[in-house]
Amino acid sequence: MRLLIVEDERRLARSLARGLQAEGYAVDVCHDGTEGLRLAREHDYDLVILDIMLPGLNGYRVCAALRAAGDEVPVLMLTAKDGEYDEAEGLDTGADDYLTKPFSYVVLLARVRALLRRRGRSAAPVLRLGPVTVDRSTRRVERDGAEVLLTAKEFAVLEQLAERAGEVVSKTEILEHVWDFAYEGDPNIVEVYVSALRRKLGADTIVTVRGAGYRTADRGA
Ligand code: CA
Repeated sequence: MRLLIVEDERRLARSLARGLQAEGYAVDVCHDGTEGLRLAREHDYDLVILDIMLPGLNGYRVCAALRAAGDEVPVLMLTAKDGEYDEAEGLDTGADDYLTKPFSYVVLLARVRALLRRRGRSAAPVLRLGPVTVDRSTRRVERDGAEVLLTAKEFAVLEQLAERAGEVVSKTEILEHVWDFAYEGDPNIVEVYVSALRRKLGADTIVTVRGAGYRTADRGA
């Protein structure tokens, strides 16, 4: 999952980004509304965390511009508590949820996960791939009931595939959703993670579709 944070308080933006990266999300950060809108239009983000009071364009205008362009990316708005800006107004411009500053990181993370689940094909917290289960709330993965320990990035790659079980997901789509824009390395990095997942979860879990990408074995579970 790839997230964009648009927040001009740099320390807050940095600490949110670090926390979310530690959870395995790819995170891009920018500090003004104009840049935020440009990035959101350019990339296929899974979620945007959008502050309201921003230099350039304010958060309401960024959100309204995205919606006017037909972009349905989930938007979590960050509002200041001073009452100058209204949560209702945020929701009116098309935001999906809001948080009032100061907020706890745990609450932010829970909201982020809930919005990402809602966006996915399946709202179910637990995805099943035959003998493998992927619990997106606890980030626990099991095969035949036994826990399999994955790194945060391995989990993120598996989640991309599991959300679209049975469909072909291209290497580019995985890259776009799991790595952030600072990544300029070899796109074949995806193969490295898929190999690791096969080693840990069983070779039959992920099928290579030549020239197209990967799909998880859909065994009708
Ligand atoms: Ca601000």
